[in-house]
Amino acid sequence: MNHEKNQDNAPINGLGGLSRRGFLMGAAAGLAYMTGLENAIASQSSDTPVHIVIAGSGSAGISIANRLAKALPNGKITIIDRKEAHVYWPGLTLVATGLWPKDKVLPGANADFLPHGANINHIKEMVASFDPDNKKLTTDAGQVIGYDYLVVSMGIEYDYQAIEGMDVEAIGQKGLTSVYHSPDKAEASWKVIESYTQKGGNGYFTLPATPIRCAGAPLKMAFLTLDRLKKNGGFEQANMNFYSSTGGVFGLPWFNDFVIERFKENNMGTALKTQLKAIDIGAQKAHFSNAEGEIKEVAYDLLHVVPPMRAPKVVRESDLAWGEGTFASGGWLAVDKNSLQHTTYPEIFGCGDVNGTPLGKTAATVKMSVPIVVNNLLSVIAGNEPTASFNGYTSCPLITQVGSAMLIEFDYNKDLIPTFDFIDPKQESWFAWIMKEQMLKPTYLKMLEGKV
Ligand SMILES: Cc1cc2nc3c(=O)[nH]c(=O)nc-3n(C[C@H](O)[C@H](O)[C@H](O)COP(=O)(O)OP(=O)(O)OC[C@H]3O[C@@H](n4cnc5c(N)ncnc54)[C@H](O)[C@@H]3O)c2cc1C
Repeated sequence: MNHEKNQDNAPINGLGGLSRRGFLMGAAAGLAYMTGLENAIASQSSDTPVHIVIAGSGSAGISIANRLAKALPNGKITIIDRKEAHVYWPGLTLVATGLWPKDKVLPGANADFLPHGANINHIKEMVASFDPDNKKLTTDAGQVIGYDYLVVSMGIEYDYQAIEGMDVEAIGQKGLTSVYHSPDKAEASWKVIESYTQKGGNGYFTLPATPIRCAGAPLKMAFLTLDRLKKNGGFEQANMNFYSSTGGVFGLPWFNDFVIERFKENNMGTALKTQLKAIDIGAQKAHFSNAEGEIKEVAYDLLHVVPPMRAPKVVRESDLAWGEGTFASGGWLAVDKNSLQHTTYPEIFGCGDVNGTPLGKTAATVKMSVPIVVNNLLSVIAGNEPTASFNGYTSCPLITQVGSAMLIEFDYNKDLIPTFDFIDPKQESWFAWIMKEQMLKPTYLKMLEGKV
């Protein structure tokens, strides 16, 4: 018996120290994660004939629409968004580092993920303005649409223009890369990164001062480039640098220190409070300003640009945005961080990147917060107060090299809240890599269907 037990607990080669038992538990837990067994939240329903408008049909909007379509058989749901192709954004880091082909992040037409039925109306226009006092909005085609309840799930806006000289059309040329823009530009970025990893040279990875979606993505880009440099032969000729506009590289202090130390072990320099201000694309030069306002010019062979981010203009310039406080400058949606209900208009809820909350511009946050929004919305429709409370869950399988990652999950208090008790969030593991590379996309697609 003892022998068997020891065998079960013995680490399996290549699994990042995971035992056979850990591996089997991981496989079972991974399946539960993908099918939603681990996170069943009691769902309500209502036969009230209300009209709900969902502004924005990305990760959050689609998932909410599918849940509401089931929960409100007599309700009318109007979804407003012109987007044609759905993008699986979390896969872009894998495209930009040559691990996935582009088509793997394009799972199909956006409309195909939305619910269908006599009471569902999909308007392929964009919201141009909100009139929350009169429970109305206007689209860019001039339609005025009234609602009883509104969900704002309009994502995020990239502010590449804030960097002087930046031209998104040039991503993929002359050393310029950016994983964030689109699948096309992620693919184009890989061409630049691939060439860099063969030859080496001066590489700069940047981080803006604003909140960004998936704060781990810029780090994944740096770690995977380092890994590729070693495999493709350019490491000895490389001078890699990570320049962050803030006082760190990630919001969790222990993880921040881990990353900076790991960069150092790989001869990669880190500069803090150092902001990308301008780029001369033709000359392959970047200008950074430091905390003292001094400008430093560097010549680069590879530049990875992470744009400043903010709420979409329509939200930013409406009464729905925070008027003061931390989230006012980005024009983020003013919601209570726990109920996700608007702070002024109780019939409005927010979900996803657009929310002005302390944490969580990730698909993982969307997955955990969609059931909260739906439950609270149904409570309000029933004439009650919202009861479900969101803890700020966010997560990032932080890839440290091909085949190895750390599954870091935390809440508003920055406390670690691991889903799997057999995975140490502070250790790199093969299982966390498999989560990112194999399991997250099926889970994400189930989330869109409103099933997890
Ligand atoms: C490179 C990258 C890597 C990432 N990695 C991870 C990861 O590893 N793990 C993870 O959990 N998350 C990751 N994320 C983050 C995750 O993808 C997002 O947080 C999530 O998709 C946000 O969902 P959303 O619905 O808020 O926004 P979106 O999915 O962007 O949807 C917003 C929708 O609103 C629409 N819209 C905008 N303006 C208007 C308007 N005026 N009218 C109507 N509609 C409008 C848009 O067309 C869009 O369809 C990553 C993101 C990127 C870019």
